[in-house]
Amino acid sequence: MENKKIYIHANITEMSKKIEKTLRSKLVKSGLRVFEELTDDTELIICIGGDGTLLYLMQEKDFPSTPVVGINTGHLGFFQEIPPEKIDDFIFKFNQGQYTVQSFSTVKATVATERGTFTHTALNEIAVKGEMTYPVHLNISINESFIERFSGDGICVATPAGSTAYNYSLGGSIVDPRLELLQVTPIAPMKSIAYRSFTSSLVLPPDGKLNILPCDESDRMLNVIFDGRLASYDDVQSITMELSSRKVNLVRFDDSNFWDKVKDKFL
Ligand code: NAP
Repeated sequence: MENKKIYIHANITEMSKKIEKTLRSKLVKSGLRVFEELTDDTELIICIGGDGTLLYLMQEKDFPSTPVVGINTGHLGFFQEIPPEKIDDFIFKFNQGQYTVQSFSTVKATVATERGTFTHTALNEIAVKGEMTYPVHLNISINESFIERFSGDGICVATPAGSTAYNYSLGGSIVDPRLELLQVTPIAPMKSIAYRSFTSSLVLPPDGKLNILPCDESDRMLNVIFDGRLASYDDVQSITMELSSRKVNLVRFDDSNFWDKVKDKFL
């Protein structure tokens, strides 16, 4: 049987590049094959960097279904499973098949404009905000039921994996990534007798669809921010957000526990 094919992506920091070099020679010594291109028969992607590097890689490679493992050289490392000092242990366990693959949901936005329809996918979240500094006014529906006329800075739609990122800073809840749902969290909602918007998060089930319609002509200039990347539109007709069929498959080793990570990184 041919040895497994590996693809490595490292961010540009000196530390990541140094780890990449060491890792390459250790992988080859252990009998694995390292390739410069990600192809359909690649069996493992190794991502060296922080969580931001993994988000970047997923966007650049258009959310491959190949299992991916992260070596953490960033700050937080929520997705990034392996500390650099445990590379030997990781190679041993990978070669022995001592790992599981955990699938993470992603969120998709379909943006209808006068020029056509555009889609964006994200592992953490997709936020819709006004293009200028003014508040935006958006009619929000869930599965065809009108919910509210939202006024404020915008709306953030987060996956469970993204619940510990921007969503958390906005006051959203931390969600176990084994759940399939989307969390819709308002960004600075206005709450007065002139403007009324929900101030807490709304949680959508797996088949839930959020529909956003600009209220006025000026609200059609919107920024759609997917995992920190920006797409600016000036002619939005509607935006629909839902769970995407694409999954990010992260390789997990037996000592990884989501709630231990939450405790370690936030308390
Ligand atoms: P960045 O500004 O370089 O870093 C954002 C921080 O968020 C980094 O510390 C990153 O961890 C951490 N992070 C990313 N995904 C996470 C997750 N699922 N759970 C917990 N922390 C997470 O930008 P970036 O690295 O490209 O990341 C883009 C993300 O930044 C967006 O998806 C959004 O969630 C987040 N963001 C947060 C705010 C806010 O909290 N006010 C505002 C804008 C964007 P590492 O250090 O390991 O990379």
